Amino acid sequence: MKALLVIDMLKDFIDDEGTLSVGSVGKQIIPCINKKIHEFREKGYPIIFMCDNHEKDDKEFEMFAPHCIAGTHGCEIIDSIDFNQGDKIIKKRRYSSFFGTDLDLYLREKEIDEIYLTGVCTNICVLYTAASARNLGYKVGVFEDCVASFDEKAHCFALKEMKDTLGCEIL
Ligand SMILES: [Zn+2]
Repeated sequence: MKALLVIDMLKDFIDDEGTLSVGSVGKQIIPCINKKIHEFREKGYPIIFMCDNHEKDDKEFEMFAPHCIAGTHGCEIIDSIDFNQGDKIIKKRRYSSFFGTDLDLYLREKEIDEIYLTGVCTNICVLYTAASARNLGYKVGVFEDCVASFDEKAHCFALKEMKDTLGCEIL
């Protein structure tokens, strides 16, 4: 069975006034992600929203400006993504969607062995989620028009790395 992951399509990353906005590329992928959400939903496949959700003094803020702090406006899913009440939300504190989260157990219980990635940033949370998933034996697809990064070069590198080194399918 398949599942769609929508990674970090949150106000602090996507809105212009977000504290760690990725820029216009973040908004450009919204229609493509919504299209995939509809396709997966129609087939009855789960949609999983992976949501960055940090402590106020999270160690990650030694590297990045504070963002997606639990309980703030910034950690909410953006309004223009077609989120449904029946969709799964999993909070995370690190780049990999698998690190310290319920994701692996959730997928195994639903007998999901193929995951398809969308969201931001291609070279950070998408890439490290792909790496974890491949290490755990999942089949991984990445929808190229549904991922983006503030760093175009790193975006391209990450797509190549996911394809050539991790064995993901770039779609
Ligand atoms: Zn973060």
